[in-house]
Amino acid sequence: ALSIGIVGLPNVGKSTLFNALTRAQNAQAANYPFCTIEPNKATVPVPDKRLSALVSIAQPQKTLAATVDFVDIAGLVRGASKGEGLGNQFLANIRECAAIVHVVRCFDDENVTHVDGSVNPVRDVETIETELILADIQSLEKKAERTRKQAKADKAMSALANEMDTLLAHLNSGKPASSFDKPFSDAMTQAVNELGLISAKPVIFCANVDEETLMALADNKENDHVKALKKLASERNAESLIICAKIEEELQGLPESEQLELLSSYGINESGLDLVIHKGYNTLGLISYFTVGPKEVRAWTINKGDKAPQAAGVIHTDFERGFIRAEVIGYNDFITQGSEAACRSVGLLRTEGKEYIVQDGDVVHFLFNV
Ligand code: GDP
Repeated sequence: ALSIGIVGLPNVGKSTLFNALTRAQNAQAANYPFCTIEPNKATVPVPDKRLSALVSIAQPQKTLAATVDFVDIAGLVRGASKGEGLGNQFLANIRECAAIVHVVRCFDDENVTHVDGSVNPVRDVETIETELILADIQSLEKKAERTRKQAKADKAMSALANEMDTLLAHLNSGKPASSFDKPFSDAMTQAVNELGLISAKPVIFCANVDEETLMALADNKENDHVKALKKLASERNAESLIICAKIEEELQGLPESEQLELLSSYGINESGLDLVIHKGYNTLGLISYFTVGPKEVRAWTINKGDKAPQAAGVIHTDFERGFIRAEVIGYNDFITQGSEAACRSVGLLRTEGKEYIVQDGDVVHFLFNV
């Protein structure tokens, strides 16, 4: 499954955020016996209001949300690309992730040491980015060298070698692969994916603020740290969001009713953790379709653009192999009509074939040969 790596300097609140995610995982673990539990990975349910709406209609015995995986990438420090700290091991862990949540300290607290002596979001982000770019330069240089050698025997490889050199020059000027202005060729895209180039991955910047700043947000007041980070994120064309990791950790230890109470005492109605999970899921390019029945209402995760047989394959590989057709009801139609039968009788249940691109929120029933 695609996963999201949590990175950031030491003492910015990564573990606090990861603990909150792990609590969210454990609260639901009984529903997901098929998820393996690993110490540095949290498989968390994606909060989805549509799922609750479908559940209140179908009253199933069991409800399963989509999930998304977060990986705690600890040990990223200045010099990591040269092997400082945990060095290469943690870099290998990020290469396997499809997206990155970059936690940035935006809280002042004299009791929490900052590795560079002061809170400065822009400097902090640049420290991490530099390490990631340096790591990419190292792996791309090796690959480019091999490709140049191959190009001597196989002329067709020289275009790829040149493209790699251009990207290397871009990285060497201190810029991430994601801001490279020319679209990659197919061969280059494949190389970038195989190398797991970190600076090519989408990033969500996550401003970790203190309780006071969180309260002030309800009045649209942002502290200077947050403003600086948001500006940086928009320059990078990246998403940004604000959380208070400490409160999120507390929240996840409470029953649901008390969670809402605590949130509203801060003047907010959605937990920052939900926001992180949502944006993470979207950034991975994932969407959900639903299966609805008396036994189970369930959200299934697919990639945006997946066709019906691929979507069926998420439930079972046999469904993909033996795919005949799909019966599809748009989410809004299902809610408006209130049942599959009602949708069928007014002609809102569509029969779709193997070229159908499944849409976010579709309520689907697959027919297949065994
Ligand atoms: P990591 O090294 O990035 O994993 O950082 P930690 O999650 O261990 O946090 C470092 C310290 O900062 C801990 O003492 C946390 O309690 C504290 N901390 C984390 N988030 C917040 C926050 O939102 N506000 C305040 N005041 N302290 C926080």
